[in-house]
Amino acid sequence: LDKAAPRQARQLNYISQFSTDIKYIKGENNIVTDTLSRVTEVSSIDYDQIADAQTQDEELKSLQTITSLNLKEYPLPSGKYLCCDTSTSKIRPYIPQAFRKQIFHHIHGLSHPGIKSTIKLMNSKFIWPSIKKDVQLWTRTCIPCQKAKINRHTKTKLGEFEVPSGRFCVVHIDLIGPLPPSRGNIYCLTCIDRFSNWMEAIPLDNISADTVARAFYSNWIARFGTPHKLITDRGTQFRSETLQTLSKICGIKLQHTTAYHRGGARNFSTGRQDISDGGASEISLMQ
Ligand SMILES: [Zn+2]
Repeated sequence: LDKAAPRQARQLNYISQFSTDIKYIKGENNIVTDTLSRVTEVSSIDYDQIADAQTQDEELKSLQTITSLNLKEYPLPSGKYLCCDTSTSKIRPYIPQAFRKQIFHHIHGLSHPGIKSTIKLMNSKFIWPSIKKDVQLWTRTCIPCQKAKINRHTKTKLGEFEVPSGRFCVVHIDLIGPLPPSRGNIYCLTCIDRFSNWMEAIPLDNISADTVARAFYSNWIARFGTPHKLITDRGTQFRSETLQTLSKICGIKLQHTTAYHRGGARNFSTGRQDISDGGASEISLMQ
């Protein structure tokens, strides 16, 4: 389950709610399942019509000169002849222009597989010159696929942070917790100097905007001076009026990192990880 994509994980999670009990139910008592297992029989592909269209098809005539294909006429139950390629192990009928999209929807619409799978599936069953290009375009523009499939567009290029000119000029702050309580403190305000990577963790019993601003003032500013710039995530405490006012009084420029922007907070996350690993006992020592 750890290796599964989020959508697979959700699906597996849903399936796991049910217990399995395999019983035989006669086809006539279980019509939906029975019909679905006979998909080839409910197929709406009309090969007779395709055979008729083939006789008028100019594209097919030009294909007959290509030696890599091995086009042969196969008799249909109706007595008409269907032109198929036999150059591979599978017999693949040639599909004239007018039927291509309909057949694509017929095949792709069963389970809406991805572009690669749909091309493979179509290519193994049918031929026409631009089959890969057409199928790729139609799959990409399939409306149900676009509605149901999850795509992430959250990749941003690595953050371009200016190198600070000296110690304690640029400081990142963030909150972690709740952690196992230590002397009533369950949160930590972490502050890291961008230049030296010096890190401080300030234990907090709550994370109200007021507490956070106070803790930063008395633990960091009082000892290291005011930074030129303070970088935070978009947590409510950091967007609060209290911190805005504190920054204004001290002349600090506040900057909020964008959501998902891991580059900006990278140093920070590693620092946080160290704290989480170290446990709360070390945090209490700093008090
Ligand atoms: Zn689709």
